[in-house]
Amino acid sequence: MNHHLTRLPLRLALGGGLATLVGLLAYRYRALDGGGALAAAGTGTLVFAAGGLSWSASMFGFFIAASTLTRLGGTRKRSLAALRREASRPRTATQVLANGGVAATLAALQILHPGDRDYTLPYLAALAAASADTWATELGVLSPSPPRSLRTGRPVPPGTSGAISPLGSLAMVAGAFFVALLAPRRLPRWPVVTAGSLGAILDSLLGAMLQARYHCPHCQCILENPQHDCTGRVRRVSGLPGMTNDLVNALATFAAALLALLLTPGQERSRRSASTGS
Ligand SMILES: [Zn+2]
Repeated sequence: MNHHLTRLPLRLALGGGLATLVGLLAYRYRALDGGGALAAAGTGTLVFAAGGLSWSASMFGFFIAASTLTRLGGTRKRSLAALRREASRPRTATQVLANGGVAATLAALQILHPGDRDYTLPYLAALAAASADTWATELGVLSPSPPRSLRTGRPVPPGTSGAISPLGSLAMVAGAFFVALLAPRRLPRWPVVTAGSLGAILDSLLGAMLQARYHCPHCQCILENPQHDCTGRVRRVSGLPGMTNDLVNALATFAAALLALLLTPGQERSRRSASTGS
């Protein structure tokens, strides 16, 4: 245990350096805005200090894949009303923390309680849920057939929260599977895929049932985010106040992490005692 503590400052410094570099590059290539880069650097520092290169590689892989998919099919995405103002925008600190906040919290827990248990699987499950939701959204909008709302069953415009299409559902499982592939070889992959996919399904359900939607009388559009580039004054037309898409994402990653903890109690404990015994 002392061994871990003495190395912690070094891990924080090294992680801080690497994460700042990644944050600066993401800012330079407009994947993140200033606040987003800062949030990513903080998250990356904790992740490296907690899990070293293995945890960092999964987060880096998730981030690179998500950023690439966001840019994929840009022309088509720009033509879709629901996404027009979102597609090309750098991600903000709120968006980074909505997707990575639970992972960062698990990293902090691992740093503070190194001997308690191994948080690698819950950490990966949180990432897998974020990845599954991102892949489903970014690839699902390219679906030739419009998605159907989980609330009404009726076709809705591509990009609408709480709606699913066959292509989007396939992309969802693929997104969770992708993170599972980045898991250390000593760990089972099924809890990551299962918890990640179920987290993303919860994300869609919450998006359909509870997420707030706003109407702008000026541009006559339905919005998922009250802030948009227009002078119109928006009014909430459905969902719970404050239940934004970002909050829904955060809840989904939290549920996935919790599920992974519940799915693998024996596994975690026995492996931990085995590794400390050797
Ligand atoms: Zn407007």
